[in-house]
Amino acid sequence: MVAANLARNMVGQAVSIFVFEPRGHLGAGLAYDTADPAHRVNVPAARMSLIPEAPDDFVHWLSRKGEPADDPDALAADGHLYPRRSVFGRYVGDFIAPYLESRHVHHCRERVVTVERTGSQWRIRTDGGTEVIADIAVVATTHPAPCAPGSVARALAGHPRFIADSTVPGALSVIGDNDRVLVIGNGLTAADVIASLRRRGHAGAITALSRRGLRSRGHATPAQEPSGDFTSDPSRTALSLLKRVRLAIGEAGEGGLSWHAVFDALRTQGGCIWRALPIAERRRLVRHLRPYWDAHRFRVAPQIDAVITQGLERGDIRVLGGSLMAIAQVGPTITAQVRQRHTGTREDLAFDACIVTTGPAHKGILASQPWLADLAISGHLHADAVGLGLACDDRSQAMDRRGEGDDTLFIAGPLARGTFGELMGLPQVNDHAIFVAEEVAQRLARLSRFRASAKSA
Ligand SMILES: Cc1cc2nc3c(=O)[nH]c(=O)nc-3n(C[C@H](O)[C@H](O)[C@H](O)COP(=O)(O)OP(=O)(O)OC[C@H]3O[C@@H](n4cnc5c(N)ncnc54)[C@H](O)[C@@H]3O)c2cc1C
Repeated sequence: MVAANLARNMVGQAVSIFVFEPRGHLGAGLAYDTADPAHRVNVPAARMSLIPEAPDDFVHWLSRKGEPADDPDALAADGHLYPRRSVFGRYVGDFIAPYLESRHVHHCRERVVTVERTGSQWRIRTDGGTEVIADIAVVATTHPAPCAPGSVARALAGHPRFIADSTVPGALSVIGDNDRVLVIGNGLTAADVIASLRRRGHAGAITALSRRGLRSRGHATPAQEPSGDFTSDPSRTALSLLKRVRLAIGEAGEGGLSWHAVFDALRTQGGCIWRALPIAERRRLVRHLRPYWDAHRFRVAPQIDAVITQGLERGDIRVLGGSLMAIAQVGPTITAQVRQRHTGTREDLAFDACIVTTGPAHKGILASQPWLADLAISGHLHADAVGLGLACDDRSQAMDRRGEGDDTLFIAGPLARGTFGELMGLPQVNDHAIFVAEEVAQRLARLSRFRASAKSA
């Protein structure tokens, strides 16, 4: 979306935009490059437009394309469409297609392996041997692979039904229909895994373990408008923000609304709320409240919520809050001991399979790829102060060694969350991509003025 919006901004100007992306098509990324029919967008289609001034753009695209085709379940009981995620990936692909056709954007289907400074520019090399010299580089790699807890990875190494990364296509195919499955982590990835398992006929017991025993909530029925003002005189501490949220939920309840409406207001006002908090308070918020925020803010599509709710009612899905004290392989069986959060009771459990769904390891982003690690060593990239991604200034320019924004290196997307706050759902990611594209266009305009004046001098 940065590339497409930049191409839009630069119409008529001689700019080459390269997107390095090993996937076959641009636009899908980790979230939407999935053929699994159980994977649905978790935000109603009506809220997933790529054009902020045309909020119905995705819905109109769906109707032009005759989508969702062969998917009667896409229309949920709440009256909203939740198409398969692959469909949304095609929509993004269609958005960028004209710029690929006009050759304003080039898709290099290779993996970047080095990014080095050369004078004031960047030399980018790929695993396919391509080399590009760029005036400006944008890091938009977002989701590193999940990182299984070390003790679990060591104990279950070599077990045929230990799945450390459920996002690898076909990863779930090793699970037998009646296997007892331990799912470690209980956010949206766990919801995807459970829905996928049940869709493919898995009928065994599933235990979803997380520290607090929370699970991603569903949407309000019927849908509600956001409620609450957190931007006038914004809170300066995590505690006062928490009190304000509780108060707003109480007031919303008096007006017949649920917490959903307040969390939707928090999400849309998230940037302003975040910026008003000093770093120590942002850390406090992440340390103490993030699990609760994640469970209420990242909601599952109603179709997936129904699968999990039915399983909980039947008793074949269990949500367990506690700490994993021990895990081991005993022949083909996986044994686990869990200390329950609220009672402290230790429970011994046995499983046939274990799936890690703790989500992408954003905190370890710099160690996730050698070229990111090299940029950190050379002082061009740093982890942000809160541990959510990469440090950048409020123009989304990467912070250099002196803590100053580098106007040749930008961070786009969720990795910029440490500065911008809530930046994970598509609407915010898209707004941020538009913002970064504008910043890059302004930088390019300054650069071309500078080069023109240097030439004439
Ligand atoms: C499983 C999942 C489901 C989601 N579902 C929803 C949803 O339904 N609704 C919603 O609003 N939000 C959803 N989200 C949020 C999602 O994060 C954003 O919507 C958005 O997809 C983030 O896009 P991105 O381009 O920043 O990152 P990504 O999609 O992670 O794209 C980064 C790309 O960088 C590429 N890359 C990485 N390293 C290199 C390299 N060295 N060289 C070249 N290319 C590289 C990767 O191949 C990848 O395609 C979901 C997120 C996940 C993880």
